[in-house]
Amino acid sequence: MTASYEVRGNVAVITLNNPPVNGLGFDTRKAAAEGIAKAEADATVAAVVITGAGKAFSGGADIREFGSPKALAEPNLLSLIAVVENCTKPVIAAIHTVCMGGGLELSLGCHYRVAAPGAKIALPEVKLGLLPGAGGTQRLPRALGVEPALNMIVTGEPVASELLAQVPGQQLFQKIITGDLLEGAIAFAREVADQRPLPKVRERKARFTNPEASPEAYFQFARNMVGGMSKNFPAPLRCLEAVAAAVTMKFEDGLRAEREGFAQLMLTPESKALRHAFFAERAASKIGDVPEDTPQRKIEKVAVIGAGTMGGGIAMNFLNAGLPVTILETRQDALDRGLATIRRNYEAQVKKGKLKEDKYQQRMALLTSTLNYADIRDADLVIEAVFEELSVKEAVFKQLDEVMKPGAILASNTSTLDVNRIAGFTQRPQDVVGLHFFSPANVMKLLEVVRGAATAKEVLATVMAVAKKIKKTAVVSGVCDGFIGNRMIEQYSRQAGFLLDEGCTPQQVDRAIEKFGFAMGPFRMGDLAGNDIGWAIRKRRYQEKPNLRYSKSADLLCELGRFGQKTQAGWYDYREGKRDAIPSPVVEAMLAKHRATLGHAQRQIGDEEIVHRLVYALVNEAAHLLEEGIAQRASDVDMVYLTGYGFPLWRGGPMCYADTVGLFNVVQTMQRFARNPADDAAFWEPAPLIQRLVAQGKSFS
Ligand code: NAD
Repeated sequence: MTASYEVRGNVAVITLNNPPVNGLGFDTRKAAAEGIAKAEADATVAAVVITGAGKAFSGGADIREFGSPKALAEPNLLSLIAVVENCTKPVIAAIHTVCMGGGLELSLGCHYRVAAPGAKIALPEVKLGLLPGAGGTQRLPRALGVEPALNMIVTGEPVASELLAQVPGQQLFQKIITGDLLEGAIAFAREVADQRPLPKVRERKARFTNPEASPEAYFQFARNMVGGMSKNFPAPLRCLEAVAAAVTMKFEDGLRAEREGFAQLMLTPESKALRHAFFAERAASKIGDVPEDTPQRKIEKVAVIGAGTMGGGIAMNFLNAGLPVTILETRQDALDRGLATIRRNYEAQVKKGKLKEDKYQQRMALLTSTLNYADIRDADLVIEAVFEELSVKEAVFKQLDEVMKPGAILASNTSTLDVNRIAGFTQRPQDVVGLHFFSPANVMKLLEVVRGAATAKEVLATVMAVAKKIKKTAVVSGVCDGFIGNRMIEQYSRQAGFLLDEGCTPQQVDRAIEKFGFAMGPFRMGDLAGNDIGWAIRKRRYQEKPNLRYSKSADLLCELGRFGQKTQAGWYDYREGKRDAIPSPVVEAMLAKHRATLGHAQRQIGDEEIVHRLVYALVNEAAHLLEEGIAQRASDVDMVYLTGYGFPLWRGGPMCYADTVGLFNVVQTMQRFARNPADDAAFWEPAPLIQRLVAQGKSFS
């Protein structure tokens, strides 16, 4: 049963029932249309109420049908809306909790709408790079007024029902019902049962709530504003044009314009990327061999070891989610410093108006600190964020093993060390997992969950749920040096170095990749994170893999003591207290001298080559990660780069980008790079997975 039908006196009630949010899938649409037919045929029925079971009126399209023929099978949403609108008896939508997308479009086909207060009303299609394609852009302006409708359609943000009911002249909601919604809706249905003609939103004019508004001027201003804000995304402007059509065209013509806009947006790479990211996020929360019903441990108390840069930020995540945290340090002064930083971070948020004073106090009240392991023994989850040295981690994990209660989850925030070795310092490796946060840990969305060889499924299921609770995007990684994100970035950095050797300046490389859409190019990023970190890693690599080629430029930079912003000199110069990157004559001279020793032909390298060399370096390494089983799926890699490394959202992540270009073309380009004597032929050997996919004519997705 996906929509039930019952008759209460002289009113038929159709209840959408397709958990979790009454998505308008094929079976639900069919059952709803059949309900209308039954009501038409029953002479005792004078009016019809449509409502939703459970926690929604309707959340819109059934995402399980996305891209499948079922999504368009008749009755499709447009047909169902036509059935409702053409019903000869009044149809009333009884709206509560959530009414979004197709759900709102269906209700706009009803003759009347009543709503419970607090219902979230939205047309969120723009967030997937689309526009509402079942009449939403034509009917909402007619029901609500042009300006608020445009705002809702262009932003996709939900607005509470009772606020919408206050819009002057609106006909979106005929009534806000504070008591029992269904009873109220049935009573309303009886009141209007005999009224004819039946009001249809399509027959109304789309009016401005400001009667003085000049449509031309209004839409021109709106175009300027929306165009400026939505730079890389075409959907918001298309939404705007569709709303303008509701004002300037007849309903049927406007509907056709809406359909055209929808069809065109559906084909844009930006919409594909947004839909890809939407599904990638959902996929990332699932682990192949850890079923959804895996038992979870209760996490009610958290401990953090180390109150440094990461420890403080990690603690804030849990405080924000209302979980008590105890921070442990070895020394009182380190503890005091860490706590002061947390306080300062919150105070800055209060000052900016982003956090209310009482919320700040509540959060601080959840925070305790200690120098003594006995005080954390009953924590359910402990996250270690001490110095990145195996011997320090060893001491901490041995302590934890001794004091923590059985069943506590022991997590490490290590970025480079072997989680299996860390687990081996305890007698309970099944309870050990990596939780790799990104800096600043209270801000960055990404959390790499590092699965050790012995990590229990229960532990994985629990930390994935915890990640959701603290609003992180968790992606599972196997154990390897650098996990998913940093192992890929190492190849990207190597390639960035080769570009310098061949004649690029750091600013040219940064500009090209930033124009592509990255939040920050490799050299500005190095200056921010500290170039000494990469230096230390490279020194290790020179021992491990003496034949691997690197550009020497980054080492020469570090030999000059230019570690980045913290030394006010890196790839760029910095003025005291400022973060603006200023091209450096010292670096330019250093690079010129270095290049002279190489004997490469210096050449002008175009932006496209720069971008492809950097992005394909990521893609090729990711293909190795997939083959080794370190990453579960290509879309997980995309989530890592979208949420942790500033990859442009409208391109969907490196793997989605490679698929958009076409893997055949990617390989052709890699082979061209391999022939460049100044580059490294071995670097551009396509990963076996890519070669296989190309041979089979397939893509990552
Ligand atoms: P940090 O130096 O800022 O902080 C480390 C803190 O741990 C210091 O306050 C220190 O007093 C404390 N500490 C040292 N030994 C301890 C012990 N035995 N018991 C209790 N406390 C102890 O370092 P950080 O940047 O916060 O890094 C911490 C961990 O997080 C490292 O493993 C690092 O690799 C990882 N990490 C760092 C970043 C980053 O960008 N900084 C990002 C991801 C992961």
